[in-house]
Amino acid sequence: VLAGSWARLAPLLRPSQWRKPAIATHRVLATTTGLLYVCGALLVMATLCLPDRGAADVAPMWGLVAIALAIGATTLAVGRRFPHGMYHVLVGAGTVIITLLVLLAGGGSLSLAYGSLYVFVAIDCFFFFAWPAAMLHLVAFEVLSALASRHVGLGFSGILLQQGCAAVVALVVGWLARAAAQAERDPLTSLLNRRGFDRAFADALDAAHHSQTVLSLVLFDVDFFKQVNDTLGHLGGDRLLQQGSQAWSALLRADQKLARYGGDEFALILPGCPSDRAGAIADQLRAALQPQGVTCSAGVAERQPGDSASMLFSRADVALYEAKSNGRAQTSIYGRPGRRGAEELEQAVRAGQLEMYYQPIVDLATSREIGAEALVRWNHPDRGLVMPNDFIPQAEQSGAIHAVGRWTLMAACRHAAREQRRTGALWHVSVNVAGAELRRPDYPVLVAETMEQTGLTSAALTLEVTETTFDTETDVVATCLQQVRRLGVRVAIDDFGTGHSTLSRLDRIPADALKIDRSFVQALPADGGPAPVLEAIVALARALHLTTVAEGIETARQATTLRALGCSHGQGYLFGRPGPARTGSVVTQRTSAAAVTRT
Ligand code: C2E
Ligand code: MG
Ligand code: MG
Repeated sequence: VLAGSWARLAPLLRPSQWRKPAIATHRVLATTTGLLYVCGALLVMATLCLPDRGAADVAPMWGLVAIALAIGATTLAVGRRFPHGMYHVLVGAGTVIITLLVLLAGGGSLSLAYGSLYVFVAIDCFFFFAWPAAMLHLVAFEVLSALASRHVGLGFSGILLQQGCAAVVALVVGWLARAAAQAERDPLTSLLNRRGFDRAFADALDAAHHSQTVLSLVLFDVDFFKQVNDTLGHLGGDRLLQQGSQAWSALLRADQKLARYGGDEFALILPGCPSDRAGAIADQLRAALQPQGVTCSAGVAERQPGDSASMLFSRADVALYEAKSNGRAQTSIYGRPGRRGAEELEQAVRAGQLEMYYQPIVDLATSREIGAEALVRWNHPDRGLVMPNDFIPQAEQSGAIHAVGRWTLMAACRHAAREQRRTGALWHVSVNVAGAELRRPDYPVLVAETMEQTGLTSAALTLEVTETTFDTETDVVATCLQQVRRLGVRVAIDDFGTGHSTLSRLDRIPADALKIDRSFVQALPADGGPAPVLEAIVALARALHLTTVAEGIETARQATTLRALGCSHGQGYLFGRPGPARTGSVVTQRTSAAAVTRT
């Protein structure tokens, strides 16, 4: 039994475990120390009020109680701002106060009882201090307590039991605190694991909130780690992670907490660092991986007032995603456009790597195609066909959206003009426009010039604007759309129902059509049951004199229901998937309704 216990205890006594347990954050330290002071003071107060307190001189004892209460209350209120060293002073002061009480009690059972308060000191220092410091406190209070107890004439057996109890409690608490902290460590790298990170992150955010200081979060992802594992084997991959995290830990300060968040994902909390400095630290850490022969990508985000942990984390995640999609081996700062990505995309526009796909829009009453929505694709030389959701958001951030938008508008108008000439009928084309484009004062001029150059009738063009575009600079966007409509171009509100609070300003948005988001269509009951939300949207559109286009219609039943509800137009895989324009033939890849129902 002893050997087994030692085997479990020994690892926790290794020099690597000598540091203070991870649990010793300022918040926990302040609360625990403050509470121990207050509880100790209240207990002593109670003994002073009881009749059996003996002949002790109570006046100075009341003084000590008042001091202890004051220290406890102050620590509870502002203790989280104390430097860590201050807690050594507080624990030392506790030892002195208890020793004075033992002396003032003048011996007998009351002195022995006050001596039991040393357990509070034992708990506090072994919970929060590194082993060597905690041991020094233990020796100090054991010596003081022994001297004081002897001075007031306590017997050896009483002293031995009291001292022994305090020492045993101290060691057990120290061991338990470290064992609990182990659960927050990653066994491979000894860094914080996900659980430890979550706690450290919450504490750091709390501290930043209270001290009104900056804080940044960096997320790292090793590039092509799967290939590393495939070539070096899992042991090789593990070794790489170990060496990498050792190299990184050596570069960081104690308050900069590094965690292994997932397989090859790391998170770094940087208190007091604005995003630029965090970006520089991230670059330094990335460079430190060079000897390992791998690169990694990093995403940085800075805390904004009112941020929750998940909000800050997801912004850092967006930045990391941007770093990866811009070609990896780089650091990206949230909200700071990555120039490299922008240049690559602008170059792609010039090199003709963008391609327009068209998806038919039909009149639901007749199922006749009246036009199509233009949806851009990027034929990337390495990444293959890249979908718009994977590059448009970044293009909006980096400013490359203007080059992309000019190209898409021109390509769609040219194609529609050709269709119009070929069929001799009005063929509508819908083009998606990003908010950043509409905030450029010369956008209406661009639209007018494009129509002139391509010879397209303005009534054939619809600009699709998502609801969220109106969240910022609503007036600027609305003015731009009014000017565009004066040219005869139509405006549709895209993905209607997914944004927020548009309803309150819907009548002020210059629009001609509502595109009902496909989530509503997909939520239609399969048995043709009631669909009150869809019904309300169609009624709303009718009241505002807007036509309706339902997106994402995949089944004949959905089309029938929408038609019955009074929705005028539809779009979705039932009528055709987005496909490349084929000159001189049918515009879109048509999928027959039967084929869709079969799949
Ligand atoms: P959106 O304007 O709402 O386009 C509709 C999206 O739904 C398209 O995805 C389309 O392929 C997809 N879709 C259509 N019918 C169905 C269906 O029956 N079922 C399902 N599950 N999906 C369907 P895509 O092409 O990936 O485009 C995604 C978004 O990217 C578009 O959403 C639009 O907001 C944006 N986008 C596309 N092209 C451009 C562009 O040229 N400029 C800008 N600024 N944004 C664009
Ligand atoms: Mg659209
Ligand atoms: Mg849409």
